[in-house]
Amino acid sequence: MRIYKVGGAVRDRLLGKPVTDIDWVVVGATTEEMLAKGFRPVGADFPVFLHPKSGEEYALARTERKSGRGYGGFTFHASPEVTLEEDLIRRDLTINAMAEDDQQNLTDPYHGQRDLDARLLRHVSPAFAEDPLRVLRVARFAARYAALGFTVAPETLELMRQLSVSGELEALTPERSWKEISRALMEDQPQVFVEVLRACDALKVLMPEVDALFGVPQPATHHPEIDTGAHTLSVLQQAAIHKQPLTVRWACLLHDLGKGLTPEEQWPQHIAHEFKGLKLIKAVNERFKVPRDCQELALLVGEYHTHGHRALELKPSTLLELLQSFDVYRRPQRFEEFIAACEMDARGRKGLEEKSYPQADYLRGAATAARSVAVQPLLEKGFKGPELGEAIKRERLKALKAYKAALS
Ligand code: ATP
Ligand code: MG
Repeated sequence: MRIYKVGGAVRDRLLGKPVTDIDWVVVGATTEEMLAKGFRPVGADFPVFLHPKSGEEYALARTERKSGRGYGGFTFHASPEVTLEEDLIRRDLTINAMAEDDQQNLTDPYHGQRDLDARLLRHVSPAFAEDPLRVLRVARFAARYAALGFTVAPETLELMRQLSVSGELEALTPERSWKEISRALMEDQPQVFVEVLRACDALKVLMPEVDALFGVPQPATHHPEIDTGAHTLSVLQQAAIHKQPLTVRWACLLHDLGKGLTPEEQWPQHIAHEFKGLKLIKAVNERFKVPRDCQELALLVGEYHTHGHRALELKPSTLLELLQSFDVYRRPQRFEEFIAACEMDARGRKGLEEKSYPQADYLRGAATAARSVAVQPLLEKGFKGPELGEAIKRERLKALKAYKAALS
């Protein structure tokens, strides 16, 4: 049996990037031999094992053939006769289809190193088209390596486009898609993920609500970049620059979906886009079975981001309603994430990236003021049930009035 490092570990070592997880391929072995050596079998789909000590993944060399629609429609063949080259050809990109033995001798039949040097994301073979997930993977790698100058090879982009228009993307499960989307959003240039999906017509299929924002104008006074799609990409980019968590990045991507619904006669105004967008945000959330915290924040940011921007002009009663909607008393972190998303929205505008956002501290101060209302004295005064709730609200309103007065 011969064992090789494959995929990301080889690619990232050649790029001089830190290698986090190592995938191995085993040639010339049977499942029985692996089990006899103490490897633990994992995964119902493929002959993959975990190393008894390191826990790293070891896969038997295999070939794959498409036998139907979607990911389930794959048959694979693993046997000691499958060669390293045969295993590598089923992989997505040439830069992911290199292997290395324990002496760091490279096996690179599909010229991954040449494409690394040329900064190209290129598919290995026409079999690329057999798994539509690869469209998302390539877009994700484009986001990850954009800073190094990588782009998608034109012939690969064309193949991705064919996959997108063929309807194959619709066969992806929400779980597989979300895994790629969420990882891509956490890259340093998540906006490139969206750009690449758009360039190959996959965005129309996966998130038509986001695709619809391109070509929709906004008023130049607040949005020098004009285009709503361009704005959305900049907001996402700001979120990455400011190292925001996934919840905030997801909310940034979806915050303006309502603008895609504005009738053209109303352009560049977008009256009530916050509210109109909610059903679209909900649809995208559900399509990918997005985790609850991401879903929730996206909906709240969609509904209230303009409140955030107008924070300093809000009446104390409106400010209170905002804080109540966020339940800042029990969910302080979520309100912080809302503030962050608003700030990214404000910075994701052409030429305004460095502009200060005093609304952030103002909102934090308001939350602190409302939270400082103590319940105990009201209980001592004998308030109970709904009356207690009303009394707390009155006190919070008072606190917010005092907060606003002290600052003006
Ligand atoms: P990362 O740094 O994100 O882990 P990676 O290249 O190691 O990058 P993995 O998802 O860990 O990505 O997969 C390991 C290898 O398996 C890839 O480099 C690629 O060769 C192959 N691979 C994974 N998923 C697919 C797929 N859907 N289609 C083709 N090849 C794939
Ligand atoms: Mg990996």
